[in-house]
Amino acid sequence: MDGTALARRIVEDTAKKAAGLTERTGTAPGLATVLVGEDPASVTYVRMKQNRCRKAGIESRHVALTAATTTGELVGVLRELSAGPAVHGILLQHPVGGHVDERAAFEAIAPQKDVDGVTFASFATMSFGLPGFVSCTPGGILRLLDEYGVDPAGWGCPRASEAERGGRAVVVGRSAILGKPVGMLLLARDATVTYCHSRTADLSAAVRGADIVVAAVGRSRLIRGQDIKPGAVVIDAGYNPGNVGDVDFDSAVERASLITPVPGGVGPMTIATLLEQTVEAAARQLGA
Ligand code: NAP
Repeated sequence: MDGTALARRIVEDTAKKAAGLTERTGTAPGLATVLVGEDPASVTYVRMKQNRCRKAGIESRHVALTAATTTGELVGVLRELSAGPAVHGILLQHPVGGHVDERAAFEAIAPQKDVDGVTFASFATMSFGLPGFVSCTPGGILRLLDEYGVDPAGWGCPRASEAERGGRAVVVGRSAILGKPVGMLLLARDATVTYCHSRTADLSAAVRGADIVVAAVGRSRLIRGQDIKPGAVVIDAGYNPGNVGDVDFDSAVERASLITPVPGGVGPMTIATLLEQTVEAAARQLGA
C-alpha cells in the first residue's frame, strides 16, 4: 500500500483548498508547532511538518521552548494560541519531557484547533463518529484502507476470496495517540476489534486470527509472517531505528494481500492528515 503516493495526492488537494481559502478570505491557514526542548528526532519531525506546510500554502508559526519549561508555562502558551486569531491549528510535538504533565498540556489546546487530534474532546468525537478532528496517524490509516477498497467490516478486500472475508481487526499497541484511536475508528466502521499490548499472553495466536492487523508498538519486526493469516491486510505503523517497522516485511508480504512498507506506508499519511485538518480548521474558523 503506497502511502507516499496517496499522501501526495491529499497534500496537492489540500494545497488547492488552502489557496482557495486564502483567496476568498485574505487569510492563509496557519499552524502553530510547539516544541519543548531540543530532542533531535522531535526537531526533525517539526521541521518536516513546517516544510510540508509551506509547500501546501499553510503558514507555520514555530514556538520553541526550553527543556526547562514547566507545565504551567506550556499550558499558558497553548491557551494563548488557542484563544488568539493568529493560528487555526496547534501541534504540540510529543513526547514533551518527563517533568511536564503532557495530558494537562494537550487539554489546553482548544478542540477547534486540535488538528493533531490529541485532546479528550477529539477522542470522544472520533469515537462517537461526530464532527471533530481525528488523531492523525489513525486517520491516515483509515484513509489508506479506504483507498485500497478494504472495508473494515469485512467486505470488499479486493484480493481475498469469499471464504477469507472476515472483519476481525487486531490492533497491537494501545497508546492514546495511535493504538486506542485506530481501534475506535475500526470499530466505528464495524470491524470486530481486539487490542493487544505488552501484557497480552499469546500475541501470535491473536494475530493469526486477524483479517486486518495494525502494528503500533515500536519493536522492530515483532510481528512475523508466520503469524499473518493468508490474505490479511497488514498495516505497519511502527517506526524503529534503521527505518524498520514492527512487522517483518519480507516474511509478511508472502502471506498478506495488502501491506504497508516502512518507510513509505503510514508515515506520510500522518503529515497529510495533519495538513488536511489544518485547512479544514481554518475554513471552519474563517466561516468559509
Ligand atoms: P507507545 O506509546 O510506546 O505504545 C506502544 C504500545 O505497544 C503500548 O501499548 C505497549 O503496551 C505495546 N507493546 C509494547 N511491547 C509490546 C509487545 N512485546 N507486545 C505487544 N504489545 C507491546 O508507542 P506509540 O506512540 O503508540 O508508537 C508506536 C510505534 O508507532 C512507534 O514505533 C512509533 O515510532 C510509531 N509511530 C509512527 C507514527 C507515524 O506517523 N508513522 C506516528 C506515531 C507513532 P502497554 O500499553 O502494555 O505498555
